[in-house]
Amino acid sequence: MHSGKVVFVGAGPGSADLITLRGARVLGRADVVLFDALTDPALRELAPQARWIDVGKRGFAHATKQTAIDALLVRMARQHNLVVRLKGGDPSLFGRLEEELEALAAHGIECEVVPGVTAALAAAAAARRPLTRRGRGRSVSFSTAMTQQGEVLATRSADSEVFYMAGKQLGALSRRLLAAGWRAETAVCVVSRAGWPDQLVSQHRIDTLPQASMLHAGRPAVVSVGAAAEATGVDIRAPGLERPVAGVVAATP
Ligand code: SAH
Repeated sequence: MHSGKVVFVGAGPGSADLITLRGARVLGRADVVLFDALTDPALRELAPQARWIDVGKRGFAHATKQTAIDALLVRMARQHNLVVRLKGGDPSLFGRLEEELEALAAHGIECEVVPGVTAALAAAAAARRPLTRRGRGRSVSFSTAMTQQGEVLATRSADSEVFYMAGKQLGALSRRLLAAGWRAETAVCVVSRAGWPDQLVSQHRIDTLPQASMLHAGRPAVVSVGAAAEATGVDIRAPGLERPVAGVVAATP
């Protein structure tokens, strides 16, 4: 039976120009592209020849049925030579890559993974807050704040933590962080829509973190805690970066 190849491509966190050159080149050869909700529509210009299928939460049978996506990937690979599975950020972080790789392997379909810029890295760049700090930030952990049951969990496993999928639950995250042993005054930085022209960065402490909810409502956000969240001298020096009550330190209009 005919079988094409499936290439998982990390689209990066926002604007189309944050995709890798390799990712862009693969898109340019794709017959069909299966894409997620958080990928930039401008990426379509890199593959005008391809059929684009929206399998993101908002576009695919109303709910993201992972098994339906798996089956569609297999079907597309049977019908085409090159299928691109475009994922937001990097495919290897919180992207259900395991399920999709296994589904393809079960049918003997060839796969490749092209990495992308993950949200935590784009957030660090947006906030100008390095993830590692000499002398006090030797390790950083990327975690999801949500369990499969929809509970919020927070840990203290590194000098800095970056939480994905926490935007809607900042109150619970704040409580869990305190319970995990972080001090109330520990620096927290929230970045929403990192990498997009309207990215927003705000600075808090663990005990004031719930105030960030309104500011970032309805936007994908990552929350960094600990050394990586601490402000740098850049905040004070950069023109236009005042710190109003809400704690917005950098908002690009
Ligand atoms: N594979 C993706 C993550 C997918 S999970 C990656 O590597 O980035 C989706 C979560 O990623 C969101 O809930 C949010 O926490 C985070 N996220 C995705 N895009 C983002 C962005 N542009 N800015 C901030 N957080 C983002």
